[in-house]
Amino acid sequence: MGIVSEACKERIRERVPLEDVVREHNVHLVASGRRLKGLCPFHTEKTPSFTVDVERQYYYCFGCQAGGDVFSFVRNAQHLEFSEALEILARRAGVSLEFEGGYRPSTDRSSTLPIYEALVLAEEFYHQCLLDGVAGRAARQYLEGRQIQPEIWEKFRLGYSPPEWDAFSRFATKKGVSFEVLERAGLVRQRPGNERAGNERAGNERASGYDAFRGRVMFPIRDAQGRVTGFGARTLGDDVPKYLNTPRTPVFDKSQVLYGIDLARGGIQRESRIGIVEGYTDAIVAHQMGLDFVVASLGTAFTTENARRLGRLAPRALLIFDGDDAGQKAAERSLDLLVAESIDVRIYTVTDGKDPCDAILRLGGAEFRRKLESDSVGLFEFKWRRTLESDRAASSGVALRAKALDEFLSLLARVPNVVARRLYIREFAERIGIPESEIAQRMEQVAGRSRNGAASSRAPARHDARRPAPGTSRFDEPIFSPESGPLGMQPVDASAETNKNAELAELVLGCMLALPGKAREIWSEVPEGLLDASPYKVLAQSIDGQLVGDALSIPRLTREINDPEALRILTRILNHLEDDEGRPTQDFEETWLHVRRDLLRHVRREKLEELKRHLAVAEAGGGSRPTGELRREYFEMLREIKR
Ligand SMILES: [Zn+2]
Repeated sequence: MGIVSEACKERIRERVPLEDVVREHNVHLVASGRRLKGLCPFHTEKTPSFTVDVERQYYYCFGCQAGGDVFSFVRNAQHLEFSEALEILARRAGVSLEFEGGYRPSTDRSSTLPIYEALVLAEEFYHQCLLDGVAGRAARQYLEGRQIQPEIWEKFRLGYSPPEWDAFSRFATKKGVSFEVLERAGLVRQRPGNERAGNERAGNERASGYDAFRGRVMFPIRDAQGRVTGFGARTLGDDVPKYLNTPRTPVFDKSQVLYGIDLARGGIQRESRIGIVEGYTDAIVAHQMGLDFVVASLGTAFTTENARRLGRLAPRALLIFDGDDAGQKAAERSLDLLVAESIDVRIYTVTDGKDPCDAILRLGGAEFRRKLESDSVGLFEFKWRRTLESDRAASSGVALRAKALDEFLSLLARVPNVVARRLYIREFAERIGIPESEIAQRMEQVAGRSRNGAASSRAPARHDARRPAPGTSRFDEPIFSPESGPLGMQPVDASAETNKNAELAELVLGCMLALPGKAREIWSEVPEGLLDASPYKVLAQSIDGQLVGDALSIPRLTREINDPEALRILTRILNHLEDDEGRPTQDFEETWLHVRRDLLRHVRREKLEELKRHLAVAEAGGGSRPTGELRREYFEMLREIKR
């Protein structure tokens, strides 16, 4: 696609406040001085280090150093191409994209917008089919049979897919949606054998296929922003499978789904907790009965991403599971991840009915809620009962009981908080009648063993690429320690020359931005070569271009820089200039004096390196200058640096 005009991007920025977009991504922002603060959506954390500068419209995380503007936020948060983020925001702002030179994007295959549009069309189509006359009667009867009320059909936009082979695809193609888009959205399938023929298709001959969902009750699945991403579909007959889902598409991944999250956000916020059930109807009925903080995991075990997302949504999670063994096993699979994310988890096992939906209807919302409070257990209690107090464990011999204890301890070992771990050990040591110290020792052994085995599966899951697990490669590690950029002092690894240069470069840029009136003077003292590394070069060029007159405009600068890495560095620098109240973090006049001295030292050090190289050449009998002269110069320079 072509280059979108600056004016166009500017209009989008004006109309779509960054803080709104951030909030829509489940980040709870609270005012903290001049900035808004919240838990970072890009890394796992317990205390907020993610900030939004409302005035300047950029974000920055002191923890993982993610930073940028509204475009980079949407791009990173939703894992999109820049062009896709741009399209989404443009549409939201009601701005049509203008391209420099008048170039319009072709129907870009990588774009997800047509897919979302097709899904909305499908949702509307299925919903009408549910409401309309004869065709939808069986589906309505099913919903009524489950005591799901019509207001809730509306709220969840439930639907019905007619049993014909191509009812939806005929409707959609008539509306101008291409078969290819429908296929990418997971709404139609190619007829077997059609694929090859498709490639050889000539001209306007249309591809043919059949509807992916036929004769089923349709549950539209939405993301937190309320966009339909896919469907769940339940058969009304004896078709196998009973539930069918949208396959993996560019916008849908079942393992990431929290069904109902778009409708549960208010409830979650209000209750400071999130309830999790397994099935569509469980979640729907929960909402119907006033338990509006409930979402459904759709029976998949949690992914790390999911667990982490839960932690951002609410500090507490309540898992509501079927009483049968399959339900319990599903619960167990998710525990490891939840422990590692330090989410306060309670587990409620349904006993009054065959599933949560049934139990909620039977007991009523208020009574079910009361049961949740009184009968749910902590995560370790649940695990304890599953391992050491199960019937199987009780009747088994010493070896099996010891094995069950190990299983329990390996979960306990994942508790990140040392104090909490100790407290748990104390509690459970008493119950099993083994001294605390011995339990603790055994836990270390078990943890050590599982660490060797499980390190590979755990490490990348718990950490961003930017923050490798301790002991893994330092290759991706940030140059500076998370809490402190160069303006906040110590770099992690000062030994590498490039890091020193990067540090100095950021200090210089920081001083320029803090002292805009002095920017030109500072700029003139930057030695050649210091800002040659790529992100700094981009920054330097922009600054150079902005130095009209003597002042430097920060908003203009953040706007002009499109390189994400450069923007990230810029936001990092900007965030170290002022504290939350908008006061300078240090006396930058004084800082500049120090930096200036460092610059001088930098120049000398470079010179020293150069002399060293010449000297080596001369000593090997080459070069044009006498060895003695070079050596004298070298030591003189060394003395100066040490002074
Ligand atoms: Zn972060």
